[in-house]
Amino acid sequence: MPFNLNAILRENIKNLVPYSSARDEFKGEASVFLDANENSFGSPLPQDYNRYPDPLQWELKHKLHRIKGVPSEHIFLGNGSDEAIDILYRAFCNPKVDNVVIVPPTYGMYEVSANINDVEVRKVNLTADYQLNVDGIAEALDQHTKIIFICSPNNPTGNSINPLDIETLLVNFKGIVVVDEAYINYSKQKSFTYSLHEFPNLVVLQTLSKAWGLAALRLGLAFASKEIIEVFNKIKPPYNINQATQDLVLAALENIDTVNEWIKQTIQEREILVTNLLALPQVHHITPSDANFILVKFDQPRALYEHLVSKGIIIRDRSKITLCEGSLRITVGTKNDNDRLLTEIRGFYN
Ligand SMILES: *Cc1c(COP(=O)(O)O)cnc(C)c1O
Repeated sequence: MPFNLNAILRENIKNLVPYSSARDEFKGEASVFLDANENSFGSPLPQDYNRYPDPLQWELKHKLHRIKGVPSEHIFLGNGSDEAIDILYRAFCNPKVDNVVIVPPTYGMYEVSANINDVEVRKVNLTADYQLNVDGIAEALDQHTKIIFICSPNNPTGNSINPLDIETLLVNFKGIVVVDEAYINYSKQKSFTYSLHEFPNLVVLQTLSKAWGLAALRLGLAFASKEIIEVFNKIKPPYNINQATQDLVLAALENIDTVNEWIKQTIQEREILVTNLLALPQVHHITPSDANFILVKFDQPRALYEHLVSKGIIIRDRSKITLCEGSLRITVGTKNDNDRLLTEIRGFYN
């Protein structure tokens, strides 16, 4: 059966009359704007912030189109990926009725957002080598399953998910398959944005919080069919991306060469860190990473974590998480950061 967006949308969203802002009703050029109750005198800043921003951020999307190769009408921008995740629930999942599938160990926000929206979460653990249990997922689905969340490269394990397995889900599941590519810039895998035309039920999430170094600005990207993007635009708060963020991101996108250089260096540093850690007898395993972090199985993980904290070095204790027993997650830092980390880890075990 072909994918039918209307069949999986919530009734209230299908029938929603969206908020119509002053900037929606009049979009053209003019010299006197007295339509939005803004302050016509200006803003108490060197730059003008007295006018409401473009609700659909077209200038930014056109620039992202040139970088990502995805047409502007297929892009949604959110206040972090977290906003896109929340909107997915509000678009498709009826509280107390519908459910979603997540594949632990994975990013925590899918479950938190489900809980906020009072939506059931069905968990189908990854396999021992952190790949999809495709049969297990198939068994977990029912008439009320609306979304499957896949994170690739996966947080906190760092590996990419086999794209053929993701395609199997996209072809056979009549709900939405979300592929969260927060770490795609570090990956050898091709982005699923190149497959958008093949799969009408695909939503790809990316973010400027990681490789682009803009976590504080909060800009998340969702790529999907025009129809799905239109639904997101109906639900989102009218001015969800503020003008300061739009201005700063437009400027940041000019510096793609710097970002690409950082990506190269991060991957180099990651491999150096892996080599040095694997030389320690107290390191049992490092999951091959396609991201800017590694998941490392250590002797005495909690004690090591606390030792590092006492030395002013903070990593992430994942040792109590399903399938991550004994493991700590380490973000790849600068050469200097990583050298300090290695020194303190060696110091702990000696
Ligand atoms: C860091 C991260 C994000 C980013 O979220 P933002 O809200 O855009 O900062 C999204 N997904 C995963 C899996 C992440 O690890």
